[in-house]
Amino acid sequence: MKLISIKNLFIVALLSCSIRAHSYVQNRSQSDAGVQWTSSVSLINIYVNSTNSLGLTSTDVDNSVTTAIAQWNGKSRISLKSNPTPTINQEGQNEIYFSSDPGIFANGTGVVGVTQVLFKNNTGEIIEADILLNNSFVDFTNNKNSSAFLGNVITHEMGHFLGLGHSQVVGASMFYALSRGQSEISDDDKAGVYSIYPTGDSSKGSLTGKIVGGNSLAAVFGAHVQAVSLKTGKVAASNISDIDGTFLIEGLSRDDQYFIYTSPIVSTAGLPSRYSNAKFDFCNSSKKYRGSFFQACGAAGEGFPQSVKLNASQVQVGSITIRCALDVPVDYMQNKGSANFDFDLQSHVASGLGNTFTGYFSQQEIDSSTISHPVIDKFRADFSRVDWNDYAPSGVNLYLELKILNQAFFSPYKANVSIGRLTTGEVATPSYVLESDGWMNIDTYERKLINRSNSSDNDFEISVYPESMKPFEFPQSLPVTSTKADYFPSSSNFEDSTYFYLVSASIVKDNGNGTFTPVSYKGQQLTDNKSCPDAINTYALSTFSATGSNTTAKSSTAKKKDGFLGCGTVDMNGGPGSGPGGFFIGLILSLILCSLTSSIIKQNKIKTL
Ligand SMILES: [Zn+2]
Repeated sequence: MKLISIKNLFIVALLSCSIRAHSYVQNRSQSDAGVQWTSSVSLINIYVNSTNSLGLTSTDVDNSVTTAIAQWNGKSRISLKSNPTPTINQEGQNEIYFSSDPGIFANGTGVVGVTQVLFKNNTGEIIEADILLNNSFVDFTNNKNSSAFLGNVITHEMGHFLGLGHSQVVGASMFYALSRGQSEISDDDKAGVYSIYPTGDSSKGSLTGKIVGGNSLAAVFGAHVQAVSLKTGKVAASNISDIDGTFLIEGLSRDDQYFIYTSPIVSTAGLPSRYSNAKFDFCNSSKKYRGSFFQACGAAGEGFPQSVKLNASQVQVGSITIRCALDVPVDYMQNKGSANFDFDLQSHVASGLGNTFTGYFSQQEIDSSTISHPVIDKFRADFSRVDWNDYAPSGVNLYLELKILNQAFFSPYKANVSIGRLTTGEVATPSYVLESDGWMNIDTYERKLINRSNSSDNDFEISVYPESMKPFEFPQSLPVTSTKADYFPSSSNFEDSTYFYLVSASIVKDNGNGTFTPVSYKGQQLTDNKSCPDAINTYALSTFSATGSNTTAKSSTAKKKDGFLGCGTVDMNGGPGSGPGGFFIGLILSLILCSLTSSIIKQNKIKTL
């Protein structure tokens, strides 16, 4: 049967601007070869020596190593295996051990862990890799709710061991700032290691396209491109656009659809040196372009993100233009701030249930919020005349599912949501989620049961309202003692200047085993967005250079043919010994550095091959 009418369908407008970093990145040699273990290797032995001066027991160390290996194994064709060893610094032996070498862990540098990777420069083939842990870093702990959790550093360094560089996806183990939750790898980490060591899994696919900007729609080099999953509401994987503006995101589940978010990279720390040439001044000479979502073009679609379905092993999305301003739906803007703000979504709906949009709160709005006059965005989704038999056989439980995201986009507040059933006044409000690895997920999910026996019961009012995440104003409802850095690792430069959120709404069915599958989402035809009205509202880049390979000069005294990569985890609190102390401890977490030079780290065992 057809649905008779859908009133106030859920559409979401996308706000297309934000700052973001990139996701998984493979390290590269000076000759631009991908750094990786050779294709003939499927099992790599790592030899672990747990001797340390920090009071960590061998069990403490072994548990972190075992957990880290379990995270990375099974995600690609490469497996790791740990073995105890009484000896270290053995040529040809991949090792994990605690080091007091002042050449690596100089007092006060704050380096807590380093991965040294020896590889052939012409092919990128890894010869040997060692993970060194700072034997003077007294803050190492077994507490998962601390950024100094030993497992965070070992899991992260193991990603370098496998050839990964740094990610700018919040919550990824390879995120460049040391943060809680890094002991467990994210979808982005999984996609990253799979992209290097694929298994030919036909359930995985890839997204590719080109990022353009400026008056002539020139290639944008160094844009962080993230694929946000409709199913999970999380970043599934990301990558950085290349010199010609193209990007390729691999390792994505084909049984899903994705919103593509493009933003300037936040930090080049730990990235292959080619990214030091990344250009950001497409809007004016001093300002980075805004982060934005790939969106359909045309008046009706302006401000609404466009999902991309992986209906082939590789989907080409065409050109995506970067933006200098925020895109939100026209009537969202017109109604926002009115006394009884109620964003009517009906006019945007062509067919299907569910959609995605972006909303935002200005600083002025938030500052004016009081208990009696709270800042709130209201939306209505009226499914009272929908025939649900079009979506699932009777007896199957269907839900309206909302995902409100902003953490991945560095919006500096939590977007709360409540769903009210107008007939009963029933309201559900989600709480904070402390994940098993210690990561604090402030993104919000909510499902509301569809009443299939009384369709008039399915008229919902959705309210989104901001909760301050300013330092020292954390709400009392948090499950553990937290700081701002637990939500937005590193310092305030991660924060987007606009407090925006992404809402994706879909109708899902209960599979009966704790999982839910979307049965309806208002997707759109895949269209290039170069003709969008604001696509050319950017300036030409006078300084853009399409030269590109590696610009880091290699020391003449360095290995002539081969490369050496050292990735260090730096604790900005001061690491061993001192720290800035006071309130800023915890606010500024840690910065992880990764340097592709052969001169900064000296170790006798590294020899020219
Ligand atoms: Zn690192």
